[in-house]
Amino acid sequence: MAHDSIASRLSALRHQLPQGLELVAVSKFHPVERLMEAYQAGQRAFGESRAQELAAKAQQMPDDVRWHFIGHLQKNKVRQVVPHAAMIHSVDSVELLRLIGKESMRINRVSSVLLQVHVAQEQSKSGFLPEELASLAASGEFSGVTGVRVCGLMAMATFTDDMAVVDDEFARVEELFRHLKHGPMAGNDHFTQLSIGMSDDWRIAARHGATIVRIGTAIFGQREY
Ligand SMILES: *Cc1c(COP(=O)(O)O)cnc(C)c1O
Repeated sequence: MAHDSIASRLSALRHQLPQGLELVAVSKFHPVERLMEAYQAGQRAFGESRAQELAAKAQQMPDDVRWHFIGHLQKNKVRQVVPHAAMIHSVDSVELLRLIGKESMRINRVSSVLLQVHVAQEQSKSGFLPEELASLAASGEFSGVTGVRVCGLMAMATFTDDMAVVDDEFARVEELFRHLKHGPMAGNDHFTQLSIGMSDDWRIAARHGATIVRIGTAIFGQREY
């Protein structure tokens, strides 16, 4: 049915998103033909969560696609991701940041990255704890790394129907973002992006200062695992 097409879902979403909010279409587990439908409807930013899948899709999709890597990044996959990613959202350790920087320098690039914050209740989700991130930033751990541009923060809320929990978690991320931006990261003009919000909670994220939302299901439908 026409109203179920990727193009029409995208267009409906774009009409609802506040101005200036960047939409990353999360295409993980969907075949390239589905991504091309979104591409033909004008979408250029896509999000993938696995190194191999990103590398394979980057080969098949047009060159002007901007790939966002949003999944947990293992150290041995850095080399596979860096050449393709316009932005890596999921930096969860200083060691990983350094490794991304080193690999980027090796291929003459500077990689844009976000620091992932852990605010959700699930232990399975990764990221820096907010206090940990604040103290690492205060001691300059992120500013001295070459080959990377630290562009802001990324977070996922707890997987729950209780929107008060989500609201509270996004509020904590927003507060941390402001604190860093006007405090320890004030010298970094690139530190401007807040990547929060998915299909079910992007409206809440938008109220908490999101600049990037990562939306999959609401565009492509359910993923098949
Ligand atoms: C899968 C995923 C999304 C998209 O989730 P939807 O609920 O399908 O919109 C967003 N961010 C991350 C980090 C993801 O892994």
